[in-house]
Amino acid sequence: MIYLDNAASTRLDDEVLSEMTPYLTENYGNAQAQHSAGRASANAISSARDKIAALAGCAAEEVYFVSGGTEAANTAVKGVCARRGKGHLVLSAIEHPALSESALDMQKLGFEVTFVSPDESGAVSAEKVIAAFRDDTIFCAVMAANNETGVIQPVEAIGKACRDRGVFFFVDCVQTAAYLPLPVKFADGIGVSSHKFYGPKGSGVLILKRGSGVMRLISGGLQERGFRGGTVNTAGVVGTAAAYERVVLARDKTNAYVSALRDKFLSRVLNEIGGAHLNGDINKMLPSVANISFDGCDGANLIAVLDLNGLCVSTGAACNAGAATPSKTLLAMGCDAARAKSAVRFSFGKHNTEKEADAAVELLKSAVSKIRK
Ligand code: PLP
Repeated sequence: MIYLDNAASTRLDDEVLSEMTPYLTENYGNAQAQHSAGRASANAISSARDKIAALAGCAAEEVYFVSGGTEAANTAVKGVCARRGKGHLVLSAIEHPALSESALDMQKLGFEVTFVSPDESGAVSAEKVIAAFRDDTIFCAVMAANNETGVIQPVEAIGKACRDRGVFFFVDCVQTAAYLPLPVKFADGIGVSSHKFYGPKGSGVLILKRGSGVMRLISGGLQERGFRGGTVNTAGVVGTAAAYERVVLARDKTNAYVSALRDKFLSRVLNEIGGAHLNGDINKMLPSVANISFDGCDGANLIAVLDLNGLCVSTGAACNAGAATPSKTLLAMGCDAARAKSAVRFSFGKHNTEKEADAAVELLKSAVSKIRK
């Protein structure tokens, strides 16, 4: 099998698994418990928090362990709305459903929501986002890079404008955590997901700036300083910190390696397959992603044929895979329905090889010509 769907999920690193294993086997104490087994878990969680804070450049008490990107986003949107009671939200039109659906839930409760479309490069303009602000705007969310196209968004400029206006700014960094530093200086809230950087599924981090005014979503025990009830997933937390450390320390090397693979694959596809079009501006993209439309093909069919031949790729949003509707991100960028429906996302990771990238081109050539016939 050739796996080019690393934007959907990555393989757990063996070293990360080794660090996690003791907390699934011999060190199974509940971190809240008042005995040595509990203290061993609590200490591991505390070290993991310190490690992530040091790598991210924030304070340890700003790090909250959550179940992943979806929970981080829900907590930010709903937690700000619950605290403020009323107001207006501004989101890019290409946010992950964890953000957009949370905002639409809030709309049902009386909050007003404005979605700002990207241009054809796949990026939203900071000016357009700022122009959408009103006197009663309380929340803004623009992702660090889009999960379907890999296009990086201008979060620094938007973050500064939010700060000037007292608007809470959330940045979904699920797709960038492996490749770019976290924008801790420009955001009030940041979400990351461990399984996107060779860590475990069901674990992630929400970074919340001190005093940012977010009401907790999950009430219960005193875990996470009373902000998120529920027994902490010690192994997941340990794995998250171990994976994040490895990815940050190897970042430059990995970025160069992954982008060389992606670039070679992309140039071969665009040169050797007629009617193939890259979606988004290559100069603004993460090193790992290529979202390509193939004239005369249905993306879902193409994925199925590739899968039968041992190549795993997807249309973009893992959560929406199988949905018959064309990608809302591509439509928002101005692609017509046919181009949006014919798109496939290829996402590379550190475990891929040049041989796999070359083999993927050959599989793609034959699948595209089969479907076009
Ligand atoms: N945000 C983005 C941009 C994503 O790509 C994803 C998952 O694909 C999520 C949020 C959800 O993350 P999780 O799977 O950890 O809930």
